[in-house]
Amino acid sequence: MSAAPFAVEPDGWVRGAHVLASPNFEARPGQAVPTLIVIHNISLPPGEFGGAAIADLFLNRLDCDAHPYYDRHLRGLRVSSHFVIRRDGALEQFVSCAERAWHAGVSNFFGRERCNDFSIGIELEGADACPFEPAQYGTLAELVTALLAHYPIEALAGHSDIAPGRKTDPGPYFDWARLQRDTALADRYFPYRRT
Ligand SMILES: [Zn+2]
Repeated sequence: MSAAPFAVEPDGWVRGAHVLASPNFEARPGQAVPTLIVIHNISLPPGEFGGAAIADLFLNRLDCDAHPYYDRHLRGLRVSSHFVIRRDGALEQFVSCAERAWHAGVSNFFGRERCNDFSIGIELEGADACPFEPAQYGTLAELVTALLAHYPIEALAGHSDIAPGRKTDPGPYFDWARLQRDTALADRYFPYRRT
């Protein structure tokens, strides 16, 4: 059996991830520890994969003159996510899990607002209208397993679950059953998937 590919270090950075440190973070309020994992999708320009635009956005160096979408929607934006999983399964980390990244925006987890305070954000490079890659599910399951081993995670949610009406990601192609199977997590970790 091979060793787990990822492990969370005491400082909240994950061994095995490619680090691209974003300045877009702050301390979690009240020494909050992450208890929620939020899953997103992102692609820049929307629907196009590959390239450096996602990282450039999170590092505040995206050239907003390079595409009309950037000009219209992203100029001046200061955002980040703890993790991005590229189409080939490569894992990038932008913010330590010990810090508050800026991925969820206005959000509500069963009555608890400001989900960024107590969550870890994972972006899959993708779009609502197409499937994710097997390699992405593989990395996601390994990452979630590593995070669960280090933090008192209680639930996983999609961005659309905690910001309904405003956000649609990770979208209908995201296979929650596959994630649950790959991580062997109990139903209680997926409170929005209960029907
Ligand atoms: Zn999102």
